[in-house]
Amino acid sequence: MIDIISLLPDALANKIAAGEVVQRPASAIKELLENAVDAQASQIMLTIKDGGSNLILVKDNGIGMSITDARICWERHATSKIKKVDDLFNIRSFGFRGEALASIAAVAKVEMKTRRKEDAIGTQITIADSKVLKQEPLQTNIGTQIAVYNLFYNLPARRNFLKSVSVETRHCVDEFIRVALAHPLIDFSLINNDQEVFRLLPSNLEQRFITLMDYKSNQTLLKVVENTDFISVNGFISTPTQAKKSRGEQFFFVNNRFIKDNYLNHAVFAAYEGLIEKDRFPSFVLNINIAPKHIDINVHPTKTEIKFDDDRAVYAFVRAVVRKSLSGLMANITPDEDAIAKMFINNDNKYPLPPKITLDKTFNPFGTAQNYSPKIHPNWEKLYEIAAPENKQEHLFLKLETQKNIKIEAVFVVSGIIFAKYAGKMHVINQHKAHLRILFEKYLFALQKHPVSSQSLLFPRTIILSPQDFELFITLQEDILKLGCEMHAFGNNKVIVNGLPPHLVKTNETDLLEGILDQYKLQKHHTDIAHYEKLALAMAQKTAIAQSHQLNDEELLQLVEDLFNCAYPTTDPKGEVIIYTYENEYWIQKFK
Ligand code: ADP
Ligand code: MG
Repeated sequence: MIDIISLLPDALANKIAAGEVVQRPASAIKELLENAVDAQASQIMLTIKDGGSNLILVKDNGIGMSITDARICWERHATSKIKKVDDLFNIRSFGFRGEALASIAAVAKVEMKTRRKEDAIGTQITIADSKVLKQEPLQTNIGTQIAVYNLFYNLPARRNFLKSVSVETRHCVDEFIRVALAHPLIDFSLINNDQEVFRLLPSNLEQRFITLMDYKSNQTLLKVVENTDFISVNGFISTPTQAKKSRGEQFFFVNNRFIKDNYLNHAVFAAYEGLIEKDRFPSFVLNINIAPKHIDINVHPTKTEIKFDDDRAVYAFVRAVVRKSLSGLMANITPDEDAIAKMFINNDNKYPLPPKITLDKTFNPFGTAQNYSPKIHPNWEKLYEIAAPENKQEHLFLKLETQKNIKIEAVFVVSGIIFAKYAGKMHVINQHKAHLRILFEKYLFALQKHPVSSQSLLFPRTIILSPQDFELFITLQEDILKLGCEMHAFGNNKVIVNGLPPHLVKTNETDLLEGILDQYKLQKHHTDIAHYEKLALAMAQKTAIAQSHQLNDEELLQLVEDLFNCAYPTTDPKGEVIIYTYENEYWIQKFK
């Protein structure tokens, strides 16, 4: 019998590895740029031609390499970044697998010039198909420049697989942006087909984000910053009104490494819930700093995914800090100040809850934020100009302590669509959604600040629930009480009703309670929504008027006033639009 196993020749092994590391020009760019950052460069220049398929050139002024290192760095597993197993758990550099240069050299022709500060003369090396073609001394600047020609020239199938030049260019630019964003202190430039696309002078994160995202100068970002012993987050987020229809401006960095993480993205989106429409996305750049031992970045060779040892804690933290930052703008969200700090103090407290979000009765949603300029509904703050301190007549639904006196000039309704003239403008309002918003805010207020007092029933009533519903009721009983439903478990799946909220005394109690429980169950899987919000929404869903419900004139007026008194009159709790405001100019233009 002859032995049939043999070791793969290096060139072939490298080509196989390259399949993972270098999928397209952009992946080579990522590796080269990160190597330059690891080499402590303060200036990095990227030049590409034809989407990177014919030329990628990365020039840096970093530490450079010795003559020997310049040769050995092209070998697989050649790295200066880790030496022993322990180092693996303490990685702060980008590379560490020592695969990138070997992979690139396996699938392209590469030329490198490099010199260290301590060397009088540098070295130049040419490699193709994993073979060193020549190496010779050369006068060159301190730092390293690597040119990659004709990527995949020796793998025609791969080369043909590349997308159009414009698509590949887009990918290259995306990689460039990610690295440049993660390192605002480094001077970056990008030249595409002999044209300068970006010249980014050293600056701060905010400025770099604004430049890279091509924001108008009047657009402002909100700062996010929170530090604990376990984790810290800093960065910038867009205001809710700047939310865009398309994704693509969401950037997460963990220890300055760009990562894609839908779970974390969701944490941010969740923090915006109720503030933006459903199909819009906030822009953000958030940098998470966490001890390397709490993360595993070795899950994928291209290293854009990361595992946290406690991802739920990270999720809760991110959501909380973003929410906190938004609360600076939206005066009616006041996060429990200590909640974030407390989160990570007890280390046994594995799954901290996001901080409570409470309604501030002195809210003035748009007045407090200087830079807040709503785009869709300009001049909203005018709605509040005629604020009067005294209360109006008894509220139709539930009373808040601070109602502003809002003077609606005209109002009528057509099939549940309300047309209201207010502050000289026309507002078109969805009746059901408006009521949903009003009730949601009021119930949330009742749950978190001021319980609603119930109106006692003349004769107590009894509800029989299914065993499952009864279980759920027991867990919710105390909070349901705060909403003005005086209901108590009485054993044997029985609930005794002694009182109901004043505005609901006429409703059927069984239908009401079962409805609330059903609505609550529907949201059970939304682990990111706080319990109070779930219950407030459940109760609002159950008790909001239908679109077909006929309101009389007085009720109509009350509904519109209540809506304008809401913290977020423009979207319902699920993020759907409630109200469209038309500038008079709109109609003038329409009839031109
Ligand atoms: P890794 O980054 O995982 O260590 P690479 O294959 O990307 O592996 O690089 C191999 C080694 O080559 C690095 O560890 C580093 O020592 C050296 N190197 C690569 N690029 C540069 C550069 N631009 N400047 C200085 N040294 C570099
Ligand atoms: Mg590397």
